Amino acid sequence: MSAPAPERTAIVYTLTRPARDRLHVAAHIAPASPVSVLTMREAYGPARGFAGGIADLVVSGADARAAAEAGRVLVAAAEPFTLAYDCVLPDYADAVSLLRGFRRGDTLFVPGMALFHRLHGEADCAVRLDIPDARTIGLDPSRRHHDGGALERCYFAIGDVVMRACGRTLFVHERGFPFALDDLAGIWPRLMAEAERLFGEAAPADWTACLFASGEHPPGRPGAGFALPGGALVSVSAGDDTLATPHTLWLLLHERLHHWLGCAIGRAGPADDWFFEGFTNFLTCEALQRAGRLSRPELARLVRLSRRAVREATASIEPPLAHRGFLAARRWHAALVRQGAALPEILARLVAARRGTMLGGADLLAALAQASPDGHVPEALRRLAEQ
Ligand SMILES: [Zn+2]
Repeated sequence: MSAPAPERTAIVYTLTRPARDRLHVAAHIAPASPVSVLTMREAYGPARGFAGGIADLVVSGADARAAAEAGRVLVAAAEPFTLAYDCVLPDYADAVSLLRGFRRGDTLFVPGMALFHRLHGEADCAVRLDIPDARTIGLDPSRRHHDGGALERCYFAIGDVVMRACGRTLFVHERGFPFALDDLAGIWPRLMAEAERLFGEAAPADWTACLFASGEHPPGRPGAGFALPGGALVSVSAGDDTLATPHTLWLLLHERLHHWLGCAIGRAGPADDWFFEGFTNFLTCEALQRAGRLSRPELARLVRLSRRAVREATASIEPPLAHRGFLAARRWHAALVRQGAALPEILARLVAARRGTMLGGADLLAALAQASPDGHVPEALRRLAEQ
């Protein structure tokens, strides 16, 4: 006789580190229905070349029958079963590997989406870390249960890292990182103070920046950043002399402001990049300028770059919506200033009213209009959002 199936499938993930370059994942699964399909996240799954991939995948359980193909495991089982595998991490290759997981010295940097399978249908997940020096970013360790989305969005730094707190920001890097965090000591609090003034409130939550140095970035870009729910991965140019270059400060602040804005308003999809990237770029420039860290010629260069990216949209690797949003935000701000208002104030009001909500393009426009002094957004912005 089988025990009655639970109402929701429950998964307990246990993570251990059996070797320098790998993590062992054991998923104990109590299925809610006799068939479970587990998939690695599509975009970064082994089929698309994520990390070194999954090795030694084993499914075991009283009545489990399994078939595995790249990134996908089908299990027919009514009884609880275990899915165990190693996640093998290659050495850091380039900025793209930030998202795929890699090893740097003895430290592993791994996105949750590279570690955990997604179970079709709802599942109640718990994570046990059997690794002494593991830090999670974006996964609240005081909570026992998580949804699959939280597991995909979190990030792990495992091994010997250097950390430094700077207000509500925690900077993290591996040993051997060629820059001193001291370079940011005086500047970062000043930038945060300007951001606070822009938004009219202190940073909404703690934020962790994982810093890496790399000699390889896309052409014309002296660094790369990826926002995480509770932080960001920031790859800086190994060719620089200091972290306090205009482009690295720009990148760090841009990621920080994403979180500030993103804590309040979620990004529904890439079609909203006119707002999430474009308006974040606008705010980044504003805060840097107020802190005396963005010269007029440098700002003019950024505006020229955006105009060119919009003109050459099809040939550009940059998402043109971000550039168009940036230019539109600047134009709207200039118009608002002539009326005695300011775009950062409108955004601050929007943030205060919408904290924690997910807004798509049309909702964003409506919320922006509601927060603006005359109840309108410019026609150009409307066209951008409705594309
Ligand atoms: Zn961004």
